[in-house]
Amino acid sequence: MRTIVIHPHSVLRQCAQPVAKIDASIESLVAQMIEVMHAEGGIGLAAPQIGVSKRIFVTVGQSEDGGDEKVFVNPKFLLIDGVLGAQEEGCLSLPEIRGSVRRQPHAVIEATGLNGELFTMESAELMARCWQHEVDHLDGILIIDRMSPIDRLVNRKRLRILESAQERE
Ligand SMILES: [Zn+2]
Repeated sequence: MRTIVIHPHSVLRQCAQPVAKIDASIESLVAQMIEVMHAEGGIGLAAPQIGVSKRIFVTVGQSEDGGDEKVFVNPKFLLIDGVLGAQEEGCLSLPEIRGSVRRQPHAVIEATGLNGELFTMESAELMARCWQHEVDHLDGILIIDRMSPIDRLVNRKRLRILESAQERE
């Protein structure tokens, strides 16, 4: 099983490549992403987080067991609006780091599903925030870039430990 790529790995900072065609390799990548997302207890996971620089993310579904996962290939926002609101976020690629991130609360997203068909989804709840977090990953943006200076300060020790651990490898 693939494992989570941790900051400051360079793949997390790349702008991920669009997917040209949904084939068996993409299906297998998505299956691995879903497996890792559940194993790590995340509500969403972007492909760069398992080291693959492609524009794909997955989220848990709305059912109680989370088994109806959603797959977003080449996602694009058709709309993001509403008053910016701060809420605490964490990230599987930034273990033990949390901070409040300001985002707009309402989003309409368009993406291709694993069946190759384009779909749109709308959310004014947690998923709108989750989608923005995951699309940020596809653009090489992490929550530490969006945190307030105070939250960055609060997390600076933990961040330094992560960054120096990587250097030693
Ligand atoms: Zn994340």
